[in-house]
Amino acid sequence: MIATITTTEALADVCARLCTAEFVAVDTEFMRETTFWPKLCLVQLASPDDAVIVDAMAPGLDLTPFLDLMRTPSVLKVFHAGRQDIEIVYHRGGFVPAPIFDTQIAAMVCGFGDSIAYDQLVARTTGGRIDKTHRFTDWSRRPLSDLQLDYALADVTHLRDVYRHLRASLEKSGRIDWVAEEMAVLTSTDTYRVEPETAWARFKARPKSREEFAVLQAVAGWREREAQTRDVPRSRVLKDDAVSEVATRRPRTAEQLAGLRTVPKGFERSRSGAELVALVNRALDGPLPELPPVDNDRPTGNGGAAAELLKVLLKLVAERHGVAAKVIATSDDLDRIAATDGADVPALSGWRRDLFGLPALDLKNGRTAIAMNGGRIVLLERSGADGDTLAAPAAPAAASKRRKRRRRKPEGDAAGSVGTADGRGDNGAGDGGLPPSD
Ligand SMILES: [Zn+2]
Repeated sequence: MIATITTTEALADVCARLCTAEFVAVDTEFMRETTFWPKLCLVQLASPDDAVIVDAMAPGLDLTPFLDLMRTPSVLKVFHAGRQDIEIVYHRGGFVPAPIFDTQIAAMVCGFGDSIAYDQLVARTTGGRIDKTHRFTDWSRRPLSDLQLDYALADVTHLRDVYRHLRASLEKSGRIDWVAEEMAVLTSTDTYRVEPETAWARFKARPKSREEFAVLQAVAGWREREAQTRDVPRSRVLKDDAVSEVATRRPRTAEQLAGLRTVPKGFERSRSGAELVALVNRALDGPLPELPPVDNDRPTGNGGAAAELLKVLLKLVAERHGVAAKVIATSDDLDRIAATDGADVPALSGWRRDLFGLPALDLKNGRTAIAMNGGRIVLLERSGADGDTLAAPAAPAAASKRRKRRRRKPEGDAAGSVGTADGRGDNGAGDGGLPPSD
């Protein structure tokens, strides 16, 4: 039987022990179907020596010792796909836990592809099995059965082993620094802050006029504030398509509001309806905002096709190095590189530059070419008068030569593995998923 922590004293005791641990694996179970903020039900914690479940709904329980643990700098906090767990800590404590390690991100640079499921990752790194029957448990119900608690605790005890395994892999391949960059994004408060003033940015369609933009800003911001203060999902206040229609039709009266297709019947007679109409009038009568700037990095002419060719190169590089393509560059990044050599994208800095950015610029500027040979895609080094010479299959040869000259530390450098991996794909990695790199 698993002891569940239900008092602040017991939580303080265990957190005092966990504070001295090298790392703590963290998982949470929560519900958010009917609320804006996730409703925390359980917190599971596992250090090398401890494994506990905290009943976050226990009456009178104060989570402060847990929050203090989350901000202890000497303890590495290990999550799997931790964004929502971190969001909960941010909402409760007003800070982002640090330092952290996310095993989902680490798995992407360890050759497991870009979307491996947690149970698969556990099976392939530790051989452990996750019982999926409790996945859809209502974690807010009490009491939970021993089986349910077992399942909840297994999530973090497995996570502890997955972490150790991935960590060893990363150290062996010299890729610890790569993961650190990705973790930095997760630990930025910008990732979790939800400001009503910028809520309009969630809407993808670009406003066609300053009037439309003014109303969109006002209505999206109002909806965000309403959802947060009433603690209900955004859609419960007003659905996305209704926000968009209000911005494009800009109803100045209750009758005009009632005429919109996407607004619920009778909404115009509600308090919210009256507020919304007043809001539209205020937005239109006040100073109108400038439209958001158009992105000049967008490709013109055959830029779209250029980005497609870069995508082929990206796929080659990703397979060759056992790194998920989406960790290296997004399709948005490819568009930008196609448009300008100096694009401000992650793919053109740090380890991504060595791995993909420089080969991409070589391809883009005619120093290499992509061709096919016997059904295989090959990269050609273009050597001018002598014609093109075949580079090693799929190896960005021109780029790797130049990188070798630049390289400062030969060991563990991103360039160290260029041309030595045997080209097995994401799923070809064997034990531990680490592509052969030495
Ligand atoms: Zn879980």
